[in-house]
Amino acid sequence: MAKKLFIPGPVDVTPEAFQAMSVPMIGHRGGEFSKLLDECNDGLKKLMYTNNTIFITPSSSTGLMEGAVRNCVKERCLNVCNGAFSERWHGITKENGKEADALMFEWGQAPDAKLIDEKLSTGKYDAMTLVHNETSTGVSAPIEEIARVVKNYDVSFLVDTVSSMGGVKIEADKLGIDVCLFGVQKCMALPPGLAACSVSERALKKAGTVSARGHYFDFLAYKKYLEKKQTPTTPPVSIMQGLRYQLNRIHNQEGLENRFARHTKMADATRKWAKKNYALLPEERYSSNTVTCVANTRNTDCNDLKAKLSAKGYVFSTGYGKIADKTFRIAHMGERTIEELQTYLNTIDEILGL
Ligand SMILES: *Cc1c(COP(=O)(O)O)cnc(C)c1O
Repeated sequence: MAKKLFIPGPVDVTPEAFQAMSVPMIGHRGGEFSKLLDECNDGLKKLMYTNNTIFITPSSSTGLMEGAVRNCVKERCLNVCNGAFSERWHGITKENGKEADALMFEWGQAPDAKLIDEKLSTGKYDAMTLVHNETSTGVSAPIEEIARVVKNYDVSFLVDTVSSMGGVKIEADKLGIDVCLFGVQKCMALPPGLAACSVSERALKKAGTVSARGHYFDFLAYKKYLEKKQTPTTPPVSIMQGLRYQLNRIHNQEGLENRFARHTKMADATRKWAKKNYALLPEERYSSNTVTCVANTRNTDCNDLKAKLSAKGYVFSTGYGKIADKTFRIAHMGERTIEELQTYLNTIDEILGL
C-alpha cells in the first residue's frame, strides 16, 4: 500500500497526473514538444503572476538556486538566511566563487525588512537571495515588505519559492522579483526532477555582463533556445506532461484562488491543532500556509511516532537540520485535502493519547 506523504516534499501525486505522464515519448526537437513547452510556460506565467521569461530545467530546485547566483551575481551578493535552505543558498553562492555575505536570523524567525534595508544601503550588493517559505522552520517571509525595500536599490532580487509556489499567491512581477524559482515536487504535486523560474528582462540583460555563468544553467542559452521553443539540453518531457496536466487542473478545475484558500484552511486547522497540543515554532503571523513547524514542547519521541504512523500508512516528517530534535513538521500542500489532513491529525491524537 502506498503511504500518504505528510512530508514537505515530495508529496503525493494523483493517479490522474501519473496517467498524464504515461504517454509515448516524444522528441524534444519537434513541434509536439514546442507546443508542450508553450503550454507549460503559459500556465506557469498565470501561476506566478508574471510576464517575464520562463525557463524549465531538468533539475531539482537547488540547480536553479545555483543558476540564479551564477547568472545574476556580479560583484557581491547578500544572502538573507533564516533556516537551512536560505543558508544553503549562501553556501551555493560562495561555492560558485561569488563574493557573498549572510544576513543571519535565528531559525524560526522571519527576515526583517529594516535590517535588509540597512545592509542594502551600504551599496555593496548587486544581488540578494531570499527564501520565501523556509521549509526547515515553517516561516513565511514578509515578502511584500521586503520587496518594497529591495525596489529602492539596483539589486537583482532572487527568490526561492520552492515550497510555496502553487500553494500561496506570489505575484512575482508586482513584487519585482528578478528570478523566482521553484521545483514541482512540493505544492505542484508532481514527481521530482523539474524546476522552473521566471527571469526578468533586467536580469537577462545583466546576465550578459556576468562572466562564467557556467553551462548547464546559462540563462542566455536558455533564452536562445526558447526563441525556437526548445531547451538547450534534453528536457524532463514526462514531468512536463504532468506539469501541463497539473496547470490545467489548477487553472481550469480548482481555480487559483480556491487552491490558495484550501492551503490557508489546511494551515489554519494545523496551527489550531499545534497550539492546542504543542506550540508553533514561528510567530503565528509568519507561520507558513504550506508547512507547519511544531515546537516539540511535550518531548514526544518523534522516531517512535514516525514508526507508529508508518504502520498506519503515513509518512511523518521530523524536524530539519539543527532543530531536528526540537521540532517536527506537518506538510499541507499539493493536492492534499482538509479531510485527509484532519484524519492524519486525529491519528496522531490517537497514537499519543492527546
Ligand atoms: C525543498 C527545498 C529546496 C531544495 O529542493 P531540491 O528539490 O532538493 O533541490 C530548496 N528550498 C526550499 C525552500 C525547499 O523547500
